[in-house]
Amino acid sequence: MNIGIYPGSFDPITYGHLDIIARSSKLFDKLIVAVLTNPRKNALFTVDERIEMIRESVKDFDNIEIESFSGLLVDFARMKKAKAIIKGLRAVSDFEYELQMALMNSKLDNEIETIFIMTSSKYSFLSSSIVKEVSSFGGCVAGLVPPIVEERLRQKFNMK
Ligand code: ADP
Repeated sequence: MNIGIYPGSFDPITYGHLDIIARSSKLFDKLIVAVLTNPRKNALFTVDERIEMIRESVKDFDNIEIESFSGLLVDFARMKKAKAIIKGLRAVSDFEYELQMALMNSKLDNEIETIFIMTSSKYSFLSSSIVKEVSSFGGCVAGLVPPIVEERLRQKFNMK
């Protein structure tokens, strides 16, 4: 079975992430969305909340699994027998960091390939951080995140 892993913080999931999920799910028999548990990163949502929002958002796909992981991504990928790590690329600014990560991961395990998927132009400006920032000031994020995320953001920031 051909397995791919799409790792990220997904704090919270956006339509930019979902676009990459939809497109990469066609390339693999199984796609694992891997939610990074990083105690050093200040997250708005807990890992369980993030997983719940992803689960609701991908419920129409039949080849997607959602898991959390910590530690080295290549170790997790090897454990899951994944052949490839999927990354989304938005702008040149993503490139330098992603190249460094991809080279390091291939040094750690050269059996696992990193595959980059270009963002769709309509999501090229979209990130979880900008969604959180706009929402925290009461801005509307409809059309940028799934309805469940909109609702959870409203609850977090105590808005109607
Ligand atoms: P971010 O806070 O930047 O959205 P994540 O860690 O949740 O960060 O991102 C996980 C992966 O999804 C990364 O490979 C990132 O480049 C990709 N990604 C995030 N937003 C988009 C988008 N709008 N279009 C394409 N890829 C994206």
